[in-house]
Amino acid sequence: MDKRIARRFLIRADGAARGNPGPAAAGAVLIDLDGPSPSNPDALPVAVIARPLGIRTNNFAEWTAVILALERAVALGASEVQLVLDSKLVVEQLMGRWRVKEPSLAPLHARARSLLSAIGTWSARHEGRASNTAADALANLALDDPSAAQAAEAAGTPAPTPVGRAADPRPVGPEAWICLTCGVQYPLSDEPPVECPICLDERQYVGWDGQRWTTMTALRETGHRNVFTDEEPGLTSIATEPVIAIGQRALLVATPRGNVLWDCLTYIDDDTVQRVRALGGITAIAISHPHFYDSMTTWSAAFGDCPVYIHSADREWVQYPGPGLRLWDGATIEVLPGLTLINTGGHFPGSAVLHWADGAQGRGALLTGDSITVVSDRRWVSFMYSYPNLIPLADAEVRAIVEAVRPYAYERIYSLFDGRVTVTDGRRAVERSAERYLAHR
Ligand SMILES: [Zn+2]
Ligand SMILES: [Zn+2]
Repeated sequence: MDKRIARRFLIRADGAARGNPGPAAAGAVLIDLDGPSPSNPDALPVAVIARPLGIRTNNFAEWTAVILALERAVALGASEVQLVLDSKLVVEQLMGRWRVKEPSLAPLHARARSLLSAIGTWSARHEGRASNTAADALANLALDDPSAAQAAEAAGTPAPTPVGRAADPRPVGPEAWICLTCGVQYPLSDEPPVECPICLDERQYVGWDGQRWTTMTALRETGHRNVFTDEEPGLTSIATEPVIAIGQRALLVATPRGNVLWDCLTYIDDDTVQRVRALGGITAIAISHPHFYDSMTTWSAAFGDCPVYIHSADREWVQYPGPGLRLWDGATIEVLPGLTLINTGGHFPGSAVLHWADGAQGRGALLTGDSITVVSDRRWVSFMYSYPNLIPLADAEVRAIVEAVRPYAYERIYSLFDGRVTVTDGRRAVERSAERYLAHR
């Protein structure tokens, strides 16, 4: 055996996220502890990690950088590792001195610990950012130039010094592109997708100026923000100003067992995350139908990869699946006690409404998106296959919607737009609106 094959490594690892969450990456260098001056921050590595991670939180990226580096060390037959990290949080949690509070990070912590026990001898220490520039550069390389990052990993070389990069005004690197017309976000890619399948469908439309794309960064830079409004005790609506795409609101239902975000928005920023956290965070996201998928994966990532409930009948419409995606089957599912998703079909086969048993002071509320839409005379509702293109629903579909919600008691109906609320007698409003609709067919 070649005695120069390294078995003991000093690992410098770093995660980067541009926005929290935002496009994220992991970087690390593995240095031979028995080579020349291993603790020199510029020591030549025997292996490197430079890996794009998609839209992630900073903590997720930090942990993933450690795990990927440890996996590489194990693959190289490591018998000892010394971790040097600029995240004090990760060091303290690895050493077991601080608890891991974020549920979504617990599996990452467990994975890192199991890799460390497989290696046997290990230590972790905190050093300032200045000594971790090599790992930081690799994480940024993965964000700026994924193919160069892949090449660097294959060659085991440090990131090249970015010559001239600062002079280039064009943003470089993959983006999670957002369709301007429907607001749905797509997975990271260097170029925007060719088309948006959701807008090509006959229930939507391609914008009159053709298919156009934006990004979260562009929306932030053009002054978008989310506005919070109290609807009733336990219910807050969240809407983006200026309006993006379809312009619906999301509704945050607060219960003693956790909060559910009903439907989703395209826009999210640090201020939104802080305000939602102040309201108790998000335990789960539930979405009525594909037009409101928006940036669901980014929202989920911001709240510990919380589950995103989408009916499995609409699985083909999911453009950007994330780790939280929960495709549910059947007629109903209770997301939290007193919060039940009901598959109504109609607008889409997987269209759903959310029944909130404690809403309207215990008389019940139905959150409908546009599975059932409150019309301008708010004592009434309607049902459509396509709203923008005015394509009605078949009679049998309307009857199926009414039957799906008939077993539930509810006084109030909250549909997709601000103010579209049937305040009283909601259950009878659905029944008589369906009769009226069918009489005119
Ligand atoms: Zn679209
Ligand atoms: Zn719709």
